[in-house]
Amino acid sequence: MTYEDWFLKDDEDDFGAALHRRTEELYSIPDALVDDEGFIECPVLPLRDMVVFPRMISPVFVGREASILAVEEAQMEDETMIALAQHDPDQDEPGPEDFYTIGVEIAVGRLLSMPDGSSSALVQGRRRVELVEFTQTEPFLIARARRIYETQEIDRETDATMRTALELFQRCVQLDRSLPEEAYLYALNLQEPGWLADMIITAISPPLEEKQELLGILDPLERLKRLVTLLAQEADVLELEDEIHTRAQGEVDRSQREFYLREQMKVIQSELGEGDIWTREIQELRSRIEGVSLPEEVQLRAIKEVDRLSQMPPMSPEVGIIRTYIEWILDLPWTEATEDNLEVRNASKVLEKNHYGLPRVKERILEYIAVRSLNPKRSRQPILCFVGAPGTGKTSLGQSIADALGRKFVRLSLGGVHDEAEIRGHRRTYIGALPGRILQTMRRAGSINPLFMLDEVDKLGQDFRGDPASALLEVLDPEQNHAFSDHYLELPYDLSTVLFITTANTTGTIPPALLDRMEVIEFPGYIEEEKLAIARRFLIPRQLEENGIEKDEVRISSQALTRIIREYTYEAGVRNLEREIGRVCRKLARSKAEKKRFPSQIGSSSVERFLGPPQFFSLEAEGQDEIGVATAIAWTENGGEIMPVEVLLTEGKGNLQITGQIGNVMQESAQAALSYLKSRSRQLDLDPELYDNVDIHIHIPEGAIPKDGPSAGITIATALISAFTGREVFKDVGMTGEITLRGRILPVGGVREKVLAAHRVGLKTILLPQRNKKDLAEISKRARSELRIIPVDHMDQVIEVALKPPRPKQPRAKRTTSPSAKSTGKSPPIQPGA
Ligand code: ADP
Repeated sequence: MTYEDWFLKDDEDDFGAALHRRTEELYSIPDALVDDEGFIECPVLPLRDMVVFPRMISPVFVGREASILAVEEAQMEDETMIALAQHDPDQDEPGPEDFYTIGVEIAVGRLLSMPDGSSSALVQGRRRVELVEFTQTEPFLIARARRIYETQEIDRETDATMRTALELFQRCVQLDRSLPEEAYLYALNLQEPGWLADMIITAISPPLEEKQELLGILDPLERLKRLVTLLAQEADVLELEDEIHTRAQGEVDRSQREFYLREQMKVIQSELGEGDIWTREIQELRSRIEGVSLPEEVQLRAIKEVDRLSQMPPMSPEVGIIRTYIEWILDLPWTEATEDNLEVRNASKVLEKNHYGLPRVKERILEYIAVRSLNPKRSRQPILCFVGAPGTGKTSLGQSIADALGRKFVRLSLGGVHDEAEIRGHRRTYIGALPGRILQTMRRAGSINPLFMLDEVDKLGQDFRGDPASALLEVLDPEQNHAFSDHYLELPYDLSTVLFITTANTTGTIPPALLDRMEVIEFPGYIEEEKLAIARRFLIPRQLEENGIEKDEVRISSQALTRIIREYTYEAGVRNLEREIGRVCRKLARSKAEKKRFPSQIGSSSVERFLGPPQFFSLEAEGQDEIGVATAIAWTENGGEIMPVEVLLTEGKGNLQITGQIGNVMQESAQAALSYLKSRSRQLDLDPELYDNVDIHIHIPEGAIPKDGPSAGITIATALISAFTGREVFKDVGMTGEITLRGRILPVGGVREKVLAAHRVGLKTILLPQRNKKDLAEISKRARSELRIIPVDHMDQVIEVALKPPRPKQPRAKRTTSPSAKSTGKSPPIQPGA
């Protein structure tokens, strides 16, 4: 197809063919005659909404009567007319003033009747003309015009501008689907700048006014320049359009694809009978939301999420996420609450029934219930913190309190929780996000006001992932916890009616801000007598029942129980005791199941048969009084403990070495004890020079357990004095107390646990700081009566009680072996002696 073909293209074949023929004719029409002055005079073809350019062939619609007459007149003459554009396209009978003055001399073909009855003619522009005057107006316009000949010269600027125009035109042809490739090829072959401009203008067909303006630019270079600007704008617009089109196409493609897939899925689902399932599931979720009582905000949120869900195809990966979220909302207790039983008598009964002893704890709980019953709305929930060694009944008492109040009971261990997100959950944008442990536990509780036990607050971690303690503060703080915020849930959750109880083995490592909010209640641990009672009343019946043995089938004697306590357990609580009793019961159960005979009475001598050889030995069995070894009573997280302190002297230069995982405070305490000793050399009959000739090694064994605190002060001093003076320490004396440089004794903590530990291991005498005397009130009469408890306020008193009297003076024996050499050191110990 040639450019002209395209240019004249018409949908009607015949008409197209006719036009084609007519163009051939047009080319052969000779130029009009020029008069003497160089003007032409021809009929005017008024153009309403088009501009004809020189050399361009276009069909022109000829409608107006005057125009038809004008064309017919031209036909009879030399087939030449002057095409002039009207200023106003709507002007039906334009007069001389209504035309632009620059027009085009055209060759015009015969009038063709169109199938719809109108007429058209084919015209070809020849050259620009400038209107001079109208020489006739009726019945049609005739004008005189001056021909404009334009220069064909191509200077460098023109050349460059032509190239630019061509380049831009090429871009337009590439981008604009309505411009055929041939248009560009045609343009490429044009040598004349003016022609090139006119051709491109006709091809890209700018708005009418623009066309006329370009027609009016008589200098070809200027016209080209203007065209370049126009082409650049056009190319930009086309590029943008193209981009939008591509994007839109992408969108359309995708949504069509999705639509198609979804339709397919519907078909598959209905084949499988699943489409209904999805609708039914959504429906079910809706009715579940309506069925439970939710706070308004929560309900709205849930409904919104279901709405989102219903918009989704059932297989979308987001479905699971949203559904899980809705399930969480539905599963959490929002309004369900149990009613508190605030009857103090009932509570008292429940606590007594389940627990032996623990009078102070029970009293505090009953007080709480009493206050609540008098003032149920206003009283604040206290946050109790149960502190004590493992197995001292903290958890089981918590359970009992819940029972007494008629509340649900849930536990959450905080041991090793490092990450704030464990408390508060992960945001939903996280893959696999869930609510934090607080809300998970609340879900388990199923009521909004359970008794919530937070175990191991003293083991809470902290690291780069945030501070779980501060999240916990928000959980516990009555000012804030009515709107606890969980990252996953993103809805405020009311924890204000929860009764929180925390537990810990020690208050020492509880974050201070937390400790401040809590009321500490100590669980001091049990003495042997208490353990026996607990075993009889609670542990044995429970273990028998758990193992399917009738109560009257077997009896464990008190001697047997005592042996189990002393030789198979070593603890402040009763957890291991229960475990050992359980082992006995399982053995009995097996015999019973195998229909073998088993003893109905378990005495002290048969314990070994059930439990194997003893694990611990009581103190008496262990040996005699020694030099350089004293017994400290210490406090650890597991309750009270007995800790030997050993001192060994070797020949040396006065160095002091302390080993056994000792903390700074204890090191200083040892230094103080040594300084005290030096200051008392004369009274103790020691040679002051001696200190420069020995090295002192203090060792506190008992595995690799870190030890610290000042309370071993007097024990270290005692062991030192014993080592230096050669006086033996009584084995059955235990002690605790901080020492000053002058030998005064300061009070220490954990006295109750320490005394119980001393009692447990069978010490006979214990030395306590005078100022700790008040703590003895907490200790049972039985323990007090079986121990000789001596309050002391000066080291002199300790020496008197703990050390054997000095032996009568002997001749100096510089290198005799001290008994303490057995336990430590390789170099020969020296005994300075008195
Ligand atoms: P903790 O939480 O302090 O580690 P637990 O509450 O788990 O201790 O107690 C361990 C076991 O000892 C439980 O079976 C508990 O019933 C029992 N127990 C502890 N103290 C008592 C007590 N005073 N009376 C009855 N049973 C007790």
